Parts: sequence; C-alpha cells; structure tokens
Amino acid sequence: MTDAPDDVFPAPTVPRVPVRGGGSFPVRRIYCVGRNFADHAREMGATAPASKAERGTPVFFMKPADAIVTGPSVAYPPATSDLHHEVELVVAVGHDAPAGVLPVEQAHALVFGYTVGLDLTRRDLQAAAKAKGLPWDTAKGFDQSAPIGELVPLADAGALDARVLTLHVNGELRQRAPLSDLIWDVPEILHELSRLYALRAGDLVYMGTPAGVAALQRGDRFEASLDGIATLAGTIA
Ligand code: MN
Repeated sequence: MTDAPDDVFPAPTVPRVPVRGGGSFPVRRIYCVGRNFADHAREMGATAPASKAERGTPVFFMKPADAIVTGPSVAYPPATSDLHHEVELVVAVGHDAPAGVLPVEQAHALVFGYTVGLDLTRRDLQAAAKAKGLPWDTAKGFDQSAPIGELVPLADAGALDARVLTLHVNGELRQRAPLSDLIWDVPEILHELSRLYALRAGDLVYMGTPAGVAALQRGDRFEASLDGIATLAGTIA
C-alpha cells in the first residue's frame, strides 16, 4: 500500500515480520490449511484420510494480513469464551509464482523461509459455524489471531521433514508432532493454493496443527518451537 497524493486518509501500514539475520518480511496475505494432521482431524470429529490417495483436496481458509502479531503480548479476543491454540509451521513465500498452476517440483523455489506461529481460534464460534454450515471467518480471522515468530531464511532452516513442532503452555507440553506427519507437505500445499490463487511474495501459509489443541486463558504463557530453530514465546494479555 503506497501513499498516493489523493488518498483520503493515510494508507494502512503493511504488517511486517522480522527476519533472522536482519530485515523484515512485508505480509501480503495469510493462507491457512485445515485438517493437515490426521490426529487433529480426528480430535475435531472429522475423518482422516487413510492414505495419500484418499486425501482429496486440502481445506483452506484465510486470515487478514493485519491479524499478524509479533509482540510478546497477544490480546485475548472479544466474543469468545473458548480461545484455542493451534501451533503451526508457517511458510513464507518470497517470490511471485509464475502464471498458471505451480508444479509441485517448482514450489520449493518460491519459499523464502519458515517459522512457527499460532492459528488462534475462537473454538466456540467455529463449532457454531460448523453446526450451521456457515463460514469460519469470525472464528479464525480476528485481530491478533496470527502470532508469528521471527522468520528463518531457507538456508538456515535446513530440511523440514526431520523437524518437530512443539507447543508448551505455562511450561506444560500441549502439542508435539514431527513435520513428517503432515498430510500435505509444503510443495504440495503451494501447488494446491496455486490452483485457486495467484501466490505472491509476502504471502504466508499456516500449515495446519497437530492434535492437542486446547483453551488459552488470560495470563497464560506460550512457547512454540520448531526444533529450536524457530521459536515464538509470549503471553495472553
Ligand atoms: Mn489451524
């Protein structure tokens, strides 16, 4: 968003995520993947695919870019009494995708880097929406619903498959899973997104959460980690 002389008010600031080693990553869009770990799909009452051949198409939803929060303090949102944590791998897209559908084997070239984030969810509103077949926006796309850690450039992140995602709340382990458990891996998700949207530099993808989602209370301290290479710590205010 650039300032133009005829803007009727100052253009909103683009949300930015700090990058390890310096610089910042301006955020364009936030895509999220639902049901990307079988154990979480089951805990939410959905059926998990028995094999890759049976997995169908991924579930996508979005958050607004200004849902990003990098500070250590995250506001408890209004209109819920059941705020849930979902720890997730976050993929940062650093290049515009070529026109058309992105082949799986070319997807990796778009990735700038990785970090960990929380897909904060008003679970009560989501359950009500699901029951009525209504959209998830109020459950997922609220202010400060996307806490995110410092971005780790690709070269420093190494191979993802062997990495383990964890979330501790008040020192207690709540969620833990190896990324090898992802139903759809990063190149596959970027390929699937490119069938629906034009992927651009600045896009973030929250890759879905493993089992163990649960409520956060005001004052809770959270610590998310991708094997220690990327971390996110903060408090629910
Ligand atoms: Mn999620």
